Amino acid sequence: MSRFFLTQLSRLTRVSKQPSLAYHGCRFSTSSRRPLMSTAGFTETQLTVREAVSQVCAKFPNTYWQERDQNEQDPQEFHAALAKDGWLGIALPESLGGAGLGISEATMMMQTIAESGAGMAGAQSIHANVYATQPLAKFGSTQQLESTIPNIISGKWRVCFGVTEPNAGLDTLRLSTRADKQPDGSYKVTGQKIWITCAQVASKMILLARTTPLEEVKKPSEGLSLFCIDLDRSQPGLEMRRIKKMGGRAVDANEVFFDNYAIPADSLIGVEGQGFKIILHGMNAERCLLAGEALGLGYAALGKATTYARERNVFQRPIGQNQGVAHPLADAYMRLEAAKLATYHAARLYDSSRTDGSIRQDAVGVACNSAKYLAAEAAFAACERAVLTHGGMGYAVEFDVERYFRECLVPRIAPVSREMILNFISEKVLDLPRSY
Ligand SMILES: Cc1cc2nc3c(=O)[nH]c(=O)nc-3n(C[C@H](O)[C@H](O)[C@H](O)COP(=O)(O)OP(=O)(O)OC[C@H]3O[C@@H](n4cnc5c(N)ncnc54)[C@H](O)[C@@H]3O)c2cc1C
Repeated sequence: MSRFFLTQLSRLTRVSKQPSLAYHGCRFSTSSRRPLMSTAGFTETQLTVREAVSQVCAKFPNTYWQERDQNEQDPQEFHAALAKDGWLGIALPESLGGAGLGISEATMMMQTIAESGAGMAGAQSIHANVYATQPLAKFGSTQQLESTIPNIISGKWRVCFGVTEPNAGLDTLRLSTRADKQPDGSYKVTGQKIWITCAQVASKMILLARTTPLEEVKKPSEGLSLFCIDLDRSQPGLEMRRIKKMGGRAVDANEVFFDNYAIPADSLIGVEGQGFKIILHGMNAERCLLAGEALGLGYAALGKATTYARERNVFQRPIGQNQGVAHPLADAYMRLEAAKLATYHAARLYDSSRTDGSIRQDAVGVACNSAKYLAAEAAFAACERAVLTHGGMGYAVEFDVERYFRECLVPRIAPVSREMILNFISEKVLDLPRSY
């Protein structure tokens, strides 16, 4: 059992001995009577993560997230609170100061954060610290790991993930940002990234760039390289522009422009030209985390909807007594529970595949993509129905469901859209002709 896990357990035991803080199920900041999700079948470690993280989240009520969303203000206190208790290193090796847990536990953490009322904004404020560091931890050099990971875990450095480009979109292999090697082995980066979450507050970016032109490689997946770079705003050749967006406004999203931006040779992660293979390692983890975040948002919305449906009386009876209100909510619950099974199955496969060679990476990819798809769709159904259950009040900031609804579109779009997952399953599982 890891040292981190033992610390969390003893912290929980201490809390539960204080009568005023007695722990009876997770203490979410949503006003729902109790969390709706069935916790049957989760491991003790996952449940400990859920309990401990929910205690941190309980210090950040819905009003905190409403304000941050309205003012577009970074939730730095929340990030700091999670860092203080060691949560940013949840899936990083103990030898580097991490908790040594897996994506199964990290997914539970992200779900718990979103479910607490923090929504996608809360989750996205730490999201890249968890998944974008996976390829770094696996393929980075000892020197790279020792100089970066402890600062990421402590919360000193925040991380962003730079893949998407305006002219490539989902066709990642056609990205055109270049890292040109200089005679001294360093690189100069030129190009543009878009939608980069937390770039304004990040000290590091995990960057995917082309080191060999597309025309000179046998396959488009070759010639891409992964870097862990400083975002040094005092250096020439780096600019950022914040994008105004629909939801999750507490965290920034940006266009990032590089113009001969110099990065040292030791920014390269792993072998030059192998960046796409390396990044896939982080992408499957990201899909699991996103699935967890979608689930959290869906359960939070459903909790709000059922509370309202019990309490709101129209025609002299609770609106939840009408089957037209109750059945869509019951259906949303079952969709979330089914997506939950797919999500934690995918996370388990991801973790097991590290030690069990019989689990093929393509099976992990199918499971992680399917989970992200199903969880995003289930969350959308729950969030939309939560707004409709609230009637006019569903449109009011105070009731939170409008915020959840705005945010629930993100897992449908990013990091890979619904359509591209359907394309992937059609081709790779159903053996249908590739459509694009
Ligand atoms: C809030 C938010 C945060 C994000 N954070 C990050 C981040 O931190 N780092 C990062 O690198 N990226 C980030 N992204 C980017 C995100 O990953 C992309 O938006 C996503 O991959 C979709 O790419 P695109 O926007 O270029 O869509 P496009 O590629 O332009 O696609 C547009 C639409 O066309 C559809 N489409 C395209 N081709 C096909 C096809 N062959 N078959 C069927 N349908 C197709 C797509 O499914 C989609 O619906 C973020 C995005 C959002 C909205």
